[in-house]
Amino acid sequence: MIAPAQRMSMLGTETAFEVLARAEALARQGRDIINLGIGQPDFKTPPHIVDAAVRALKDGHHGYTPAPGIPALRQAVASDLERHRGVAVDPNRVVVVPGGKVTIFFAIMMFGEPGAEILYPNPGFPTYESVIRFSGATPVPVPLLEEKDYSFHASSVLAQITPRTRMLILNSPANPTGGAVPREEIDALVAGLVDHPQVAVLSDEIYSRMTYDGRRHVSLLSYPELEGRLILLDGWSKTYAMTGWRMGYGVWPDSLVEGATRLAINCHSCVNAAAQYAGIAALEGPQDSVEAMVAAFEERRRVIVDGLNQIPGFSCRNPGGAFYAFPNIKQTGLESATLQRRILEEAGVATIAGTSFGAFGEGYLRFSYANSRENINKALDRIAELMSQAVA
Ligand code: PLP
Repeated sequence: MIAPAQRMSMLGTETAFEVLARAEALARQGRDIINLGIGQPDFKTPPHIVDAAVRALKDGHHGYTPAPGIPALRQAVASDLERHRGVAVDPNRVVVVPGGKVTIFFAIMMFGEPGAEILYPNPGFPTYESVIRFSGATPVPVPLLEEKDYSFHASSVLAQITPRTRMLILNSPANPTGGAVPREEIDALVAGLVDHPQVAVLSDEIYSRMTYDGRRHVSLLSYPELEGRLILLDGWSKTYAMTGWRMGYGVWPDSLVEGATRLAINCHSCVNAAAQYAGIAALEGPQDSVEAMVAAFEERRRVIVDGLNQIPGFSCRNPGGAFYAFPNIKQTGLESATLQRRILEEAGVATIAGTSFGAFGEGYLRFSYANSRENINKALDRIAELMSQAVA
């Protein structure tokens, strides 16, 4: 009998894909399902980006590229970082990979091993905990606090660091909470990290362009104190509505670029060549579609947060970024998974239970507002009706 390695039993998954499958099955049975479960923009990739990929294919860019990405793309990433984060980065530190997730996998596999501890946000993007376990390391959850708008106290995070801590993962703005960590908390965290030079930092900033109420994104890249141990993750999936193109990047410390490149060579060789040309067009071309998309999200955020706060048993903070609302549903008296199932089966609205993002997600549901205002309003009406029956 074949016997996969023991570590395969440590891999988790993303329940979002299971909810999507169930929602699609219900839709095939003729049910009208509104999908507020999926974590991707409901916009199309802007046409000038698509055109750049088509042109690249017609121009014959059909072969392998250098493993960390074509030089012009790495340069375009460096220029973009300077534009949006005000930091000059050597393009040789940029490693382009197929999606944001790949930098997560590489960074954790680089630092995780039995005996090592890795701190990660909980509730948080499920891949963090899953890959930490897969690496053999011990996942140490950093609880995100509703009363802090899903941020944390820097002092509490610093108190969780032990001599075994190898890496700290941060994600702001965050999935699934929409929380954005305020500058003063990041300042305090970075100041405290100076006393823990053995801790690498993975900053997942994939929602960096989606911040609201005039907030400016605070990038860990702008802290010189972290030089030599910061891995910055960003990409094209969310900003340019390119989830299916599989394009992301990591900015690695000089000492880790070679390792990240070797991982790329062993794993995927390089990213699809035409997609890389599209990536250049995205970064260097007009940004008006990004601005229009973010403005639409900000408007929908108001609609969904107002609506959720009117549903019996729900209360919802105003998220600072990304495109998720994460209401507290404890007053309904139902567990998150039960409520998720009932809302899908009985109201025809797909959402994701907070527990899909870690144990600290119990008592919450994730709503993605990457859907039209009309659908969001319809979904809210249906849930309000279901909940008023449930409470009555
Ligand atoms: N990081 C976070 C916090 C995310 O929410 C996601 C996607 O949902 C990713 C990384 C992965 O993005 P990609 O689709 O580019 O792999």
